[in-house]
Amino acid sequence: MEAHSRKSVQLNALARNFAQSMDAEALVLEFGRTFTYNKVFFSSMGNEFVTIETFIDGHFVKLINNDGLVCSEEASELSMKAETFSHYTYKKSNTQLMVLDIQGVGYTSCDPEIASTTHMDEANNYYFCTGNWSTKGIETFFNTHKCNKYCKLLNL
Ligand SMILES: [Zn+2]
Repeated sequence: MEAHSRKSVQLNALARNFAQSMDAEALVLEFGRTFTYNKVFFSSMGNEFVTIETFIDGHFVKLINNDGLVCSEEASELSMKAETFSHYTYKKSNTQLMVLDIQGVGYTSCDPEIASTTHMDEANNYYFCTGNWSTKGIETFFNTHKCNKYCKLLNL
């Protein structure tokens, strides 16, 4: 449980970093709003390990599943930008990983998953969390994703 909790904090920090990086690039373009992730903290209560994050109030929507499936059927600005964000993380990581499980309230996202092209390290430990669908998640994403105007703005 400790390793899993620590991994989910690290994973959120990585997604947060990609979101900030995309926001900085989008700022000089006519892109509009991009996604943000709040900080997630690791702690323990007694002998239990916990993660703590700000409660996000509002209507919760899942835009992209952790298996790479694009959930939204209508091409809203929010859903298109979610796809662009996942695509962006793949390019920005030099095709090493993709941030998936894009969900939250508006542009405030939480609880991401990462699909990494390498699934295990030399000691046979899985990279990231149990929701890492690896290349299968990335393939599913690209099977359902069509580059939209936001991908084009970022030259993806
Ligand atoms: Zn794209």
